[in-house]
Amino acid sequence: MKFEIITIFPEFFSSFFENGILRRALAEGLVTVEVHDLRAFTHDRHRTVDDRPFGGGEGMVLKPGPLAEALAALGIAPKVERHASNAAQAGPPQVVLLSAQGRPFTQAMARELATEERVVLICGRYEGVDERINQLYCDLELSIGDYVLSGGELAAAVVVDATMRLLPGVLGNEASGEFESFGVADAEIATAEDGVPRSQHGSGGLLDYPHFTRPAEFSSLRVPEPLLNGDHAGIRRWRREQQLRKTLANRPDLLAGAALNKEDQKILEAIRKETK
Ligand code: SAM
Repeated sequence: MKFEIITIFPEFFSSFFENGILRRALAEGLVTVEVHDLRAFTHDRHRTVDDRPFGGGEGMVLKPGPLAEALAALGIAPKVERHASNAAQAGPPQVVLLSAQGRPFTQAMARELATEERVVLICGRYEGVDERINQLYCDLELSIGDYVLSGGELAAAVVVDATMRLLPGVLGNEASGEFESFGVADAEIATAEDGVPRSQHGSGGLLDYPHFTRPAEFSSLRVPEPLLNGDHAGIRRWRREQQLRKTLANRPDLLAGAALNKEDQKILEAIRKETK
């Protein structure tokens, strides 16, 4: 998969590429990331990328000209042309505008983006990007949360990170992309063929359960007993209950869209009674 990022601060991304899973994925060629300096597509002495807003008001707006030129240099035509000429092919690149006004970026959306071959990310600055770039070129306007950042670079890094770790081969342990917060339900996870009982649940849209490592006792707090006795079924039950507890406590909004079976409903009822 290839990400191409258009930004006025290309240097922002250098340390991001040098660490952890992304560094390994880049080295192994599982993912490619290109960063393009928007100022390279200007033609004046000051390399101007912004201008005052029509209608007045605060701040500056990223001009459409340099952005359209940057996109053309990447071979990206306006979407009307792109979609028409690619109709019979695998699918056009996804052009994504990072914006506080966008659709919320979620794990489900990361899973969708991870199926694309190529994603182009446009980072706004100042008051944002001239809206005609969105209208003409962007397939998706994405927000990483209900707050305003000073630029799209941090948001682009979030999208690249959350998406690339879902690509096949990127995570050391293939399964860890499935058994985590906002993951898919058990039914969508291929069952182990070696017959070893699984001690994890697919979260089915819930939050993850808490994790513990050695030592078994720390600051007078012992690791919960069910995790210590090797009973896989018991561990699975305990972890499911914890997923439900955490979700109810921290993100009750997720419960409505979660894949819950009758057993889950019973556990939830019991937890709700306890906390009344
Ligand atoms: N005037 C815009 C508004 O009120 O929605 C805010 C512009 S913000 C200061 C500058 C740039 O940061 C945006 O163009 C966008 O690229 C990026 N940005 C800010 N908040 C974001 C968010 N929550 N998600 C994604 N990108 C964001």
